[in-house]
Amino acid sequence: MTSPPLNAQVAILCGGLGTRLGALTASVPKPLLPVGDMPFLDHLLFEVARFGFRDILLLAHFQSEAVQRFAEISSARAAFDLNLRVCIEPQRAGTGGALYHAQNLLADEFILMNGDTWLGANYHALLAHRAATNTVAAMALREVAEPDRYNVVDFDGRLIRNFRRSRVSTETGFINGGVAACSAKIFQYLSPKGSLEDEVWPILAEQGLLAGLSTPGFFLDIGIPAAFESAQIDIPAQHRRGAVFFDRDGVLNADHGHVGTVDRLEWLKDAERAVRLANDANRYAFVVTNQAGVAKGYYTEGDVNALHAHMQAHLNANGAHIDAFRYCPYHVDGTVAEYARESDHRKPKPGMILDLLQKWQVDPMQSVLIGDKDSDLAAAEAAGIRGAKFEGGSLYEFLRAVI
Ligand SMILES: [Mg+2]
Repeated sequence: MTSPPLNAQVAILCGGLGTRLGALTASVPKPLLPVGDMPFLDHLLFEVARFGFRDILLLAHFQSEAVQRFAEISSARAAFDLNLRVCIEPQRAGTGGALYHAQNLLADEFILMNGDTWLGANYHALLAHRAATNTVAAMALREVAEPDRYNVVDFDGRLIRNFRRSRVSTETGFINGGVAACSAKIFQYLSPKGSLEDEVWPILAEQGLLAGLSTPGFFLDIGIPAAFESAQIDIPAQHRRGAVFFDRDGVLNADHGHVGTVDRLEWLKDAERAVRLANDANRYAFVVTNQAGVAKGYYTEGDVNALHAHMQAHLNANGAHIDAFRYCPYHVDGTVAEYARESDHRKPKPGMILDLLQKWQVDPMQSVLIGDKDSDLAAAEAAGIRGAKFEGGSLYEFLRAVI
């Protein structure tokens, strides 16, 4: 695997006029319309932030002052300490032009997405698919039942062979889902004014440089009046999902006893695929791990955090991610004074799970903890979620049977 795109950015197209919504968007750009209790764009930012992205670029033109004001007060920015910047097109440049004018602000790899649509997508899977296919971009594709209303693409399961294949048909077809992983090579195909849909994607497809990834997640375009109505309920509801709580040692990696540093990490069979399965199934993925090695002086909290960052990067390169890691450094028999105590976060106590249930919008009924010890299952039970004991083999197959 190539090194992970740790510094990958997200660029969000915010320049659309929103004419279909009439008076609603006369003075407010579509992405800033209120949905539930916050601007729609904040919902998107909370979603990309949980994948680990912190560097976000908003591409604006229409009402760009409002976008700039939003960037200062965004609640997602505050919650995740996002680096949220605004790039303003000098003239109305179209989607391709908007990206062209932002090229000096973008890294070698980035996710490009529409600011007025929600698509439940696995962003790391898109980045990994682009890298694996050695293409310029990998686009999330939605399979729709009435493709005659849209522009169907020719998709061979890996690459998009023809971006625009207009047809009238009653079969299902794949269409652009509005999210793509891009390499900086895309800038060679852009001009100061132009459309990605009309000019860039068709050429990339023709040259075999546009990959596709079937993405069955929830989709909603707030630019359609009826959809904007239903978005008020449906979009806030997207943040609430079931979770897979992974114990770490003996589940994701071999339990060699007090694994606290990267050199002692040995991934177990299909662990990466299992985490990706949780991601693709629209579940939160958490790690909850006892790390008494800190209390016993074998390694430090800094070591644990470095190990988890390494694990996250490895997972990202495999199209997977962990939404949050929780570890308990305490042990009553510890030799390091500040960690030598009881803790309600140490399994079999449920503190780590309860903490995650409180901080994230988790549906406990749709959640499960995978652990290799009875103390894991006891912690799950005490937290009111299901537990499943993993006893070796493929973690992927195990999880598939469990969820
Ligand atoms: Mg374990």
